[in-house]
Amino acid sequence: MIVIVKPQATEEQREQLLRRIRELGLQPMVSNGAERTVVGLIGDERLIAEGMLESLPAVEQVMPILKPYKLVSREFKASDSIIEVRGIPFGGPQIQVIAGPCSVETPEQMRRAAAAVQAAGCRLMRGGAFKPRTSPYTFQGVGDEGLDYFRDAADAYDLPIVTELMDVRKIDLFLEKRVDVIQIGTRNMQNFDLLKEVGRLQVPVILKRGMSATVKEWLMAAEYIAAHGNHRIIFAERGIRSFETSYRNVLDVTAIPFLKKETHLPVIVDPSHAGGKTWLVPALAKAAIAAGADGLLIESHPCPEEAWCDADQALSPEQLQTLMGDLRKLAEAIGRSL
Ligand code: PEP
Ligand code: MN
Repeated sequence: MIVIVKPQATEEQREQLLRRIRELGLQPMVSNGAERTVVGLIGDERLIAEGMLESLPAVEQVMPILKPYKLVSREFKASDSIIEVRGIPFGGPQIQVIAGPCSVETPEQMRRAAAAVQAAGCRLMRGGAFKPRTSPYTFQGVGDEGLDYFRDAADAYDLPIVTELMDVRKIDLFLEKRVDVIQIGTRNMQNFDLLKEVGRLQVPVILKRGMSATVKEWLMAAEYIAAHGNHRIIFAERGIRSFETSYRNVLDVTAIPFLKKETHLPVIVDPSHAGGKTWLVPALAKAAIAAGADGLLIESHPCPEEAWCDADQALSPEQLQTLMGDLRKLAEAIGRSL
């Protein structure tokens, strides 16, 4: 943090500023320029709440230089972090695709879904046993036993599982069922109690962007998880709200390189919830990879027209296979692999 001192500030007012900085536990470094005096603050600037120094008579402007997010920032760690899920690396040269149904439905549906996910060459599987639905009258997910259907189907094809956690009371169940990646959905990105609890685990977390969250709020949400001890975080852009109503959300492609600059952690993209239509998914998936995403989270279903949830955005096994072929070529063209 840098404090710019008012040119007309008296000696007494300047002394008061330096005294206050020391009282707050920081070290002032005074730089007397030809025209202006600037005071650099050494130490953890987060000890200072907003407005604490601005009110002093000597102060013209306070400029933060340390990001409010620390553990997740590139300032803290310059090199890319690789987050491994059962040996599968996120954040390295290899792009990871997670595919599977929006919702766990039946053991048979999950077996067929897992077969298609593996056949297409995706390395992890997704599926929600607990669904955050806008209406309380729609299907809410099959619940606890859904994790068994998922675990059994995924184990048969050796696929790690990614599933959404909405309630801290389900954490023991998630650990018991050996959930490989906990997904925090868009509606819970700022559920700070949930973030603190997953922060106490050592299970990798996919943190989806809140549908109306700024990149900074998203980074701060990740900081909650990291601050409580879990540094195994993967960001997932899934589209944000805008004035446009022709498609479900707007995929914020700009957020991909921006986030990669701000954080050392991997960034993946969910083109399914961004577009909300099957036909939009391939274009958005390719745009994401071209923009530097480390992976994709895609909804696929053995029989999309029969899906209990998000039927109009799921890829069929054939569509998933075709997309993976296209993504493989794209990955090679940008010096990565799939
Ligand atoms: C999901 O991935 O199943 C989901 C509900 O996504 P989001 O939280 O992005 O809406
Ligand atoms: Mn869905």
